[in-house]
Amino acid sequence: MNISNRIAQISASPTLAMAAKAAALKAAGVNILSMSLGEPDFPTPAHVKQAVKDAVDADMSHYGPVPGTPGLRAAAAKYMSSFADKDGAEPVFKAEDIIVSVGAKQAICNAIETLIGKGDEVILPTPCWVSYTEMVRLAEGVPVMVRTTYDHDFLLTPEALEAAITPHTRLIILCTPNNPTGAVYSAEDIKALVRVLLRHPNVAVIADEIYNQICYTGICASWVNETELLDRLIIVNGVSKAFAMTGYRIGWLACKDQNFIKACTRLQGQQITCATMVAQYAAQMALEADLTCVKDMTRAFERRRDLIVSLAQDIPGWKVRVPKGAFYLFPDVTALFGKHTPADSAYAKSRSTTLISSADDLCEYMLTDGLVACVSGSAFGEPTCLRISYACSEQQITDAMTRIRTAIKQLN
Ligand code: PMP
Ligand code: GLU
Repeated sequence: MNISNRIAQISASPTLAMAAKAAALKAAGVNILSMSLGEPDFPTPAHVKQAVKDAVDADMSHYGPVPGTPGLRAAAAKYMSSFADKDGAEPVFKAEDIIVSVGAKQAICNAIETLIGKGDEVILPTPCWVSYTEMVRLAEGVPVMVRTTYDHDFLLTPEALEAAITPHTRLIILCTPNNPTGAVYSAEDIKALVRVLLRHPNVAVIADEIYNQICYTGICASWVNETELLDRLIIVNGVSKAFAMTGYRIGWLACKDQNFIKACTRLQGQQITCATMVAQYAAQMALEADLTCVKDMTRAFERRRDLIVSLAQDIPGWKVRVPKGAFYLFPDVTALFGKHTPADSAYAKSRSTTLISSADDLCEYMLTDGLVACVSGSAFGEPTCLRISYACSEQQITDAMTRIRTAIKQLN
């Protein structure tokens, strides 16, 4: 069969591809430590598991409303409004402002499909999550990558944003805390970007805040405070990361523009009907319960962050920034480009060269000879770095960093 041009031109998700490669090697008996996938290793909280059992027993096994169950939409609206600074004020979002989808991934994809047409430009500050670019291409839009730098904490500056905007710009997608860099925008950083956006009324914003609970700076500044921009702002969140519920596949978007909500709901109605009913109930119970479990998991991520940063600082050729949120380390590894592996390395045997000339090469060498799976920064639009997920046990972090250090010390 012929594959449509639209699908033929999009690439497979590199994060999922590396995770699958590591799993296949493990299944074949190779002792791989997988640090490739951004997925909390914690079990889903017990009260959420119980909620699923209750939902099954209560026969929540029929179709539901396209934009989500009233209960989850109300809980998500309250949750999203709780990130606003002003305590006690009227909640920013109501249930009708929420669309529940199959993970934040689908929420973002649907928002892009709803807003973007052929030739429309979408600004993506890089490094950025692997799927944004391909989702924009799927909608026949044009990703406009704006590179942020290690020296500026991988934050988009207002000047770079202003320079990237053209008459064709329709959307910018920002992620805070960021995957893959761990960078977190302060309230002032966001305000400075908003000042630019207010001069460009045709540019909408998707703020991907899926990691906002996993933040080590105290309060994580949210775009929900940007009241002047609310008519063209979409905020995305979900239960995957904060509640260790990746497999439940529940995420959502919040938006005050009912015209957008209606259009996006029309799309979803032709696509999936609704997200899985028992999973929606579980997500509602997760949001409505006390959030101590989320805080406990975040504290554990912070201890892991401190551990991996201290071990990574001993690795020759790595330049390490301290991530402020999410659960990824994103070291700059350019000092290792041009080095050679030992002649008898598994890397040299499989590639007929000992040369490491890029982050892709280093990532491959760490897999073949260090037996640690991570993802090359090139997948995120930053070919000088590597991404290592530390959403795993402290033991695994220690073992993986020992393996990596041993493998890298052999380069010359
Ligand atoms: N946004 C970012 C930045 C992510 O890293 C992920 C990872 N899964 C998602 C969105 C999608 O999350 P999910 O579909 O699991 O809710
Ligand atoms: N978001 C996670 C990651 O970046 C999960 C995989 C994916 O959806 O890309 O690893």
